[in-house]
Amino acid sequence: MDVADASGVPAWFADHLREDGIESLYPPQAAAVEAGVTAGESLVASVPTASGKTLVAQLAMLSAVDRGGTALYIVPLRALASEKREEFSVFEDHGVSVGVATGDYENSGEWLADKDVIVATSEKVDSLVRNGAPWIDDLDCVVADEVHLVDDPGRGPTLEVTLAKLRRVNPAVQVVALSATVGNAADVAGWLDAELVDSTWRPIELRKGVHYGQAVHFGDGSQQELRVDSDEKPTAAIVRDTLADDGSTLVFVNSRRNAESAAKRLANTVRDGLVPEERERLAAVAEELRDVSDTETSEDLADCVERGAAFHHAGLASDHRSLVEDAFRERLIKVVAATPTLAAGVNTPSRRVVVRDWRRYSGDAGGMQPLSVLEVHQMMGRAGRPGRDPYGEALLLANGHDELDELLDRYVWADPEPVESKLAREPSMRTHLLATVASGFADSRTGLLEFLDQTLYAAQYGGSNDLERVVDTTLSYLEANGFVERGDGLEATTLGHTVSRLYLDPMSAAEIIDGLEATDEPTPLGLYHLVSRTPDMYELYLRSGDHEEYTMEAYEREPEFCGELPSEFEESRFEDWLSALKTARMLEDWADEIDEDDIAERYGVGPGDIRGKVDTAEWLLGAAESLADELDLASVPAVRGARKRVQYGVGEELIDLAGVRGVGRKRARRLYDAGIETRAALREADKSIVLGALRDREKTAENVLEAAGHRNPSMDDVAPDVDARPDEDSDGDEAVADDDQSSIGDF
Ligand code: ADP
Repeated sequence: MDVADASGVPAWFADHLREDGIESLYPPQAAAVEAGVTAGESLVASVPTASGKTLVAQLAMLSAVDRGGTALYIVPLRALASEKREEFSVFEDHGVSVGVATGDYENSGEWLADKDVIVATSEKVDSLVRNGAPWIDDLDCVVADEVHLVDDPGRGPTLEVTLAKLRRVNPAVQVVALSATVGNAADVAGWLDAELVDSTWRPIELRKGVHYGQAVHFGDGSQQELRVDSDEKPTAAIVRDTLADDGSTLVFVNSRRNAESAAKRLANTVRDGLVPEERERLAAVAEELRDVSDTETSEDLADCVERGAAFHHAGLASDHRSLVEDAFRERLIKVVAATPTLAAGVNTPSRRVVVRDWRRYSGDAGGMQPLSVLEVHQMMGRAGRPGRDPYGEALLLANGHDELDELLDRYVWADPEPVESKLAREPSMRTHLLATVASGFADSRTGLLEFLDQTLYAAQYGGSNDLERVVDTTLSYLEANGFVERGDGLEATTLGHTVSRLYLDPMSAAEIIDGLEATDEPTPLGLYHLVSRTPDMYELYLRSGDHEEYTMEAYEREPEFCGELPSEFEESRFEDWLSALKTARMLEDWADEIDEDDIAERYGVGPGDIRGKVDTAEWLLGAAESLADELDLASVPAVRGARKRVQYGVGEELIDLAGVRGVGRKRARRLYDAGIETRAALREADKSIVLGALRDREKTAENVLEAAGHRNPSMDDVAPDVDARPDEDSDGDEAVADDDQSSIGDF
């Protein structure tokens, strides 16, 4: 089907696609149009990775906008929001405005009301609903990307409840749910009252197989020789073989550390085959990578990239990730070793995919667990670049004959699992029941059960008593903690409203309130620890040796804790306390102006992790401040101070200066040491001192003075005061606190 034949789609879009080389619709896209996706019909599209789901969404959104409506595109990861925004930015040339809702959870995002298309994560949409963003009530089209993630225990319930709420406030809304191939797409379509396109069609043939011995054994029974030299690992042999055919390889492994070590090793395989021009361009990319942050991760990544290989995981800064993805798409980087984050939505096709690790450590199960078929198929789906490769190949690796049979059975011939709602788990129930009551979706137990009837959980397990049981336990918990009141009906207390608006897990709120009530003058470490032990913070793991170190530290700093140090006999609580202490110590180092790379090394984390923890701590401390304020506690100023120190990564005395745009933690320290101690002093400062303190960088000095409100920021004819120059000169000059290094979480 030609795009122009799809009714309801604006004419410019067909032209635009044609310019991009897209003439006709792929069969699943044509099926979506026939099912009415451009005429406002709800649709579930369950099709393989890389089969053009985004275009289905675009057709739906643009035809909705063409009819005068507005559309919302829900992405599963924050990092994908900017990627989609970029992708949709061409709409703006044709009068379709696009906005991304990011940032604070408390923000109601009113400015988005004027946008035609809004991109947001499900968490953000959920919080906008809680904060009563008015435009939520007039949506015409809602796209849910990667809807199979409703199966994910962590974020699935939020997506599920958010869709239920959006449909409740907009009964006529069109829902377009995009999913990888799953076992029960029809259930999802039933839940959403949607048409279904369930297809296994791919734009390019995908051959799945298992490498064992000296050959690849394909699912269709054929074999192909692929020799492994005696001193070589199978992955290296596959990369070498692919290169011989001028192709690139994507290798999926199960941990960040494995991604880094695999990339370093594979760089040796790739290096010698690079031509001089490639070396030159790779060196330029490596330089850009080094500029992103002065950490060991940055350095290691740049070293690999110079040799044509890279690693990719959630510990990287977002600029690292996009540089790697671009260079891989341009075929400069020949092999990327990645954790599964790369399989999720980032468009990085390659000739071959190797799923090297098919087991992953699971804390819940206490050991290695096989990945789901759905996950492995999503990784495999990245193989083959349409229009470039004759076909894609996705390979698993077997060590023995039995394993060969097992892998063929388990992944090559297997169908993906069905998705199952995880809503009935307690942590998600706590959060979502409170929010549902607080935002007025239910005012009685019966009303609550009626609302839940619109969820996938009810569609899948309706009629079972489990739901009622969990609802009752959860309501009792919320009532006991003063978040809801039950009389004739059911309503949220003032505190409950605040907790819901702040987007806190009620259990985090309860922990924070208990901790704050236990002490009047908390120290920053005490507060960092308090927020680090809530379920909203992913704590750092304790490594071997950490246990002893942090036990000692816990006793030494016992008076600082908000709340009582648990007894060592309460093993799991004590463990949690120690992990939270490790996280809190990292935040303390950050606020003590320790260099990012020293922190990374000390705690065994990447720059993206530091950013992620800092962001979460800032948010939780902001929430703690609101709660303390609401409860009239004496600790409000202490909490605010601790929050600002984490926000900027500076000592108390620098908070004011570091808040000036463009200053950040390092420059604030340099200015302070040169005698400029406050924003007000900076506004009136002697320009030669500012220039000296900022190491003679005129442009930086001008920007900083302008941001501080200096009357005449120009540095023309200003000579730097050499006495103001900082002593240390070893590290970079970037304002680290200003870098965008948000973590996207690992999955
Ligand atoms: P998915 O979301 O299903 O993983 P994408 O939407 O990212 O897949 O599409 C994969 C690639 O296919 C994109 O580069 C896109 O431009 C291209 N594509 C999509 N539809 C068509 C089409 N009808 N003809 C040619 N190329 C297409």
